[in-house]
Amino acid sequence: MLTRRVLVLNRLWQPVNIVGMRRAVTLIFSGQASVVHRSAPELRTLDLLEWVSFSRRNPPEVGLTAATVTLHAPDVLLLAGYDRPPAQEVRFSRHAVFRRDGFRCQYCGGLFCEAELNLDHVVPRDRGGRTIWENIVTACLRCNARKADRLPHQAGMHLSHAPIRPTWRSFVAEGLSCEERRRWREFWPTEEKQKAPGDPAPEDGTGNRIRTGVTTLEEWGPAAERYPQVDLTPKRMEALSSQVKRSCV
Ligand SMILES: [Zn+2]
Repeated sequence: MLTRRVLVLNRLWQPVNIVGMRRAVTLIFSGQASVVHRSAPELRTLDLLEWVSFSRRNPPEVGLTAATVTLHAPDVLLLAGYDRPPAQEVRFSRHAVFRRDGFRCQYCGGLFCEAELNLDHVVPRDRGGRTIWENIVTACLRCNARKADRLPHQAGMHLSHAPIRPTWRSFVAEGLSCEERRRWREFWPTEEKQKAPGDPAPEDGTGNRIRTGVTTLEEWGPAAERYPQVDLTPKRMEALSSQVKRSCV
């Protein structure tokens, strides 16, 4: 039960986060969130006392055992004081790039610990390459050193995937299990997948083509949309992270 994830809604009932059960319980006990309870045909919110009282009156077969009561495990929480909209974009960070790339070096394909990885500017900075999702990939230390300040083809290297800008949906929503989709169906409307914003392809300023194995520099932008197979699902990432952690022990 403690491994079950809980959907967190802002005050406007929009999904803004997914947390583990321990965090969910902390949010409830600290009064920052109430439990959204399905009481057909409507949804009710229960604060801590109401939740305890409800669990006493209707003890669950399986639940969270507190001191003197077994509590119903929450599915969905409603934050009391947070009304910011859901994040539209995943914040760019070193760790987020590694997650996007599944902790795999985008040149040799190897799976590495975070400490053994670097960020690589596909188009090097001194050629005008920017530090943006579409120009940054995960590289192992060896490949990173080998490529140095060159374009991939100059180093005889190829990218396994065109780097794309992940959306919040690609980081979170696509990783929902069937069971979570069922539990959260009211709050997670099915919608068109967001396209990665059409940021211009990175320019190297020299007219050189960059071979990625799937595309050229000119085709970079469209290719990123054509090849969305970079595995971004949180489930996959968690699996990879735990593999990585295990292999690092
Ligand atoms: Zn490598």
